[in-house]
Amino acid sequence: MTEVSVAKEDLVPTGELVVLKSVNKHFGALHVLQDIDLTIARGEVVVVIGPSGSGKSTLCRTINRLETVDSGSIAIDGKPLPQEGKELARLRADVGMVFQSFNLFAHKTVLENVVLGQIKVRKADRKKAEEKARTLLDRVGVSTQADKYPAQLSGGQQQRVAIARALAMDPKVMLFDEPTSALDPEMINEVLEVMQQLARDGMTMIVVTHEMGFARSAANRVVFMADGRIVEEAAPDQFFSNPRSDRAKDFLSKIL
Ligand code: ADP
Ligand code: MG
Repeated sequence: MTEVSVAKEDLVPTGELVVLKSVNKHFGALHVLQDIDLTIARGEVVVVIGPSGSGKSTLCRTINRLETVDSGSIAIDGKPLPQEGKELARLRADVGMVFQSFNLFAHKTVLENVVLGQIKVRKADRKKAEEKARTLLDRVGVSTQADKYPAQLSGGQQQRVAIARALAMDPKVMLFDEPTSALDPEMINEVLEVMQQLARDGMTMIVVTHEMGFARSAANRVVFMADGRIVEEAAPDQFFSNPRSDRAKDFLSKIL
């Protein structure tokens, strides 16, 4: 894997980047996010864990406004997320998202997958967009795959392309929703390594994952959710060795 150190102006943590205040969200009668207060500092890596159905994906989806909220507020880098409009599209581009399923454009080459958003959303010119795409593909270790189509790549390679594609938009924060859950076991580490490197490079990251090794080594903080609430937050060492809530103890006893 190639290591490229990124020249990012915001390597130095300078305060709050993502701020959720009293966020509530229902799906019909189901209160899926309940009074969520969450502040993520620039450069911080937060791992979100919790039982299936606890609201982790919905939390991610509200942060880039794939879902609306019923009440409360979400701000990215000091700017409140509007409910709709042009401003929303611009702010949404500040939030990179990587899903469990890789969601690459099947009929575009790997290179095009990383080029397209830059041209359409960021209005970059093609030559610059291609240069940047090649640099990013190199950074995630798939530069030799640039002219192939997604289906010709392994799952781990596809997910690394998805990460490169998200990074191409120069996001301020990256959201990962179970990025390794759909991968064959032998491909999990190659994706986690790219994420580790991104964390070391200073990217602000929110990562929903069951990979506790990643949480221990890369996270500044673990957020434990159950039934739509943040039940517990702590540094990884503290959380794993000494969970305070019964819900967290119960959850950890099942997965560790
Ligand atoms: P997690 O990611 O922690 O497994 P989710 O955020 O996906 O949890 O889901 C939380 C709850 O909301 C679950 O009970 C799920 O079935 C429900 N849910 C998620 N998305 C929708 C939707 N679009 N419509 C109705 N219910 C939903
Ligand atoms: Mg989920």
